[in-house]
Amino acid sequence: MATKKLGKYQKMRDFSVTPEPSGDTTKKRRKKTIFVVQKHHASHLHYDFRLEMEGVLKSWAIPKGPSYDPGTKRLAMMTEDHPYDYAGFEGVIPEGNYGAGNVIVWDNGEWQFLGPGDDPVKAVEEGKLTFRLKGKKLFGEWALVKIRRPGTKGNEWLLLKHRDEFASENFDVTTFAPRSIVSDQDVDDLTPRREWQSNRAASSRRRAPTLADALKKASSKKKPTKKQATTKKGAARPSSRKATGGTKKKATAKKGGRKG
Ligand code: MN
Repeated sequence: MATKKLGKYQKMRDFSVTPEPSGDTTKKRRKKTIFVVQKHHASHLHYDFRLEMEGVLKSWAIPKGPSYDPGTKRLAMMTEDHPYDYAGFEGVIPEGNYGAGNVIVWDNGEWQFLGPGDDPVKAVEEGKLTFRLKGKKLFGEWALVKIRRPGTKGNEWLLLKHRDEFASENFDVTTFAPRSIVSDQDVDDLTPRREWQSNRAASSRRRAPTLADALKKASSKKKPTKKQATTKKGAARPSSRKATGGTKKKATAKKGGRKG
């Protein structure tokens, strides 16, 4: 059932290479509907805002992220439905794959449809929905409104904050709380997962052989400490590594060091 809806999502990805969920497993209906916001550093940094509907995640990519200022409307580009399991995804999408780059779970929680009407799917189809969020960073009442103007591509929406007790003109939530609510890492701190390196390195597909080969080669070498890795030249994102050590040790313990 979910698989059918996810045709576009699945067509865009090679699951022998990317660690993202394939969406092949179906799930039981739950009473509470979830939302997730993933901070995604692909070719450009953006925030993927996803609302659970009918067992999948309706998705919008928001370049600047949400704003608590009711006067600040944020552009939100509607993207393909994602599998329910994607809500837990945090990791590195390898080079050469769709959306290549780092993903963290920036916020999540429950959402409640407020209208108009009583069918959120219909509201999306008609281009307007208001809802309440109960996350760790995002709270209160929000709206997504489709832009209807000649010359727009048809996937452009606006995310805006309604006036309520949470609204604030002077609080930039993306700056104040930039990190993952799961691992406490910021988006550029992530390193590729070890299971991906060891199980799936030399892919038979033509895409991304270069990085897979490099990782395979690198994983046969001695594992560098975090400190050494940050000083190593030629790393994929040299400027993004922060040697803050300490508090992040636990979260990164299972992951391998990123090597150039
Ligand atoms: Mn994205």
